[in-house]
Amino acid sequence: MDVLSDLPILEGPVVRDADPAEQAAHEQAQQPPPGTPAPPKPLALVTEDEQRLVAYACGKCGTVFPVWKDGDRLQAVEFAAACCAPVPCLGGCGMLLSPKGLRRCAPCREQYDAERERAAYEKAAKLTPAQYGDGMVYRKGYGDDGYAPDLDSLLGQAEHAGIPRPAYVWACKPRPFKLDAQDIVDAGLQDHHDDAAEGISDRAMERLQEFLDLWCKEQDITTWDPDYSRVILVPAEAEG
Ligand SMILES: [Zn+2]
Ligand SMILES: [Zn+2]
Repeated sequence: MDVLSDLPILEGPVVRDADPAEQAAHEQAQQPPPGTPAPPKPLALVTEDEQRLVAYACGKCGTVFPVWKDGDRLQAVEFAAACCAPVPCLGGCGMLLSPKGLRRCAPCREQYDAERERAAYEKAAKLTPAQYGDGMVYRKGYGDDGYAPDLDSLLGQAEHAGIPRPAYVWACKPRPFKLDAQDIVDAGLQDHHDDAAEGISDRAMERLQEFLDLWCKEQDITTWDPDYSRVILVPAEAEG
């Protein structure tokens, strides 16, 4: 799982003030390396009798892109050609990746995540352990899959495992358990006639949501997510 998917999206490109030469080099890196086999050509699907074009299919996996009207033709060819064509890693390293997988290779992803983490760290409110108090903390590479019930246990585990003491850990925030009245009603009405929902008033929906909110609160379900807006600075040495 991409644990950094919750990080705020950075505004603007990560690489700033790229000079034109650097930009050109980057664009060149986006081109498939010489000698890369051309992706298989899209297949045109035509009707047996009229020889009328009805769709294009990916030359590799056979996924069909229909041509409903003349205007769709170009788009269908484009989609069929791009379907299984390898795409360059977004990190600009020049590696070609499957279009159906992750958009960055592992090293580029690691670098990207590190850059995002650094940017989030700079923006985050810095707390002392005393200010944060007891509470779930997160740091990739530590604890149980990154999480520990509090800072002391994370540090204790790190010491026990012989991992260097982290300079900081992320605060965590609880993810509320919620059920959506509209989703539940929509699911329940799926097999009913089209106008069935009209019989349910807005007030009735509000009452159901109020009940669901209360009910959810009564359930002891707490999932923690890293809170990338608050970071806890870890003192260099253990106290005492
Ligand atoms: Zn394909
Ligand atoms: Zn890459």
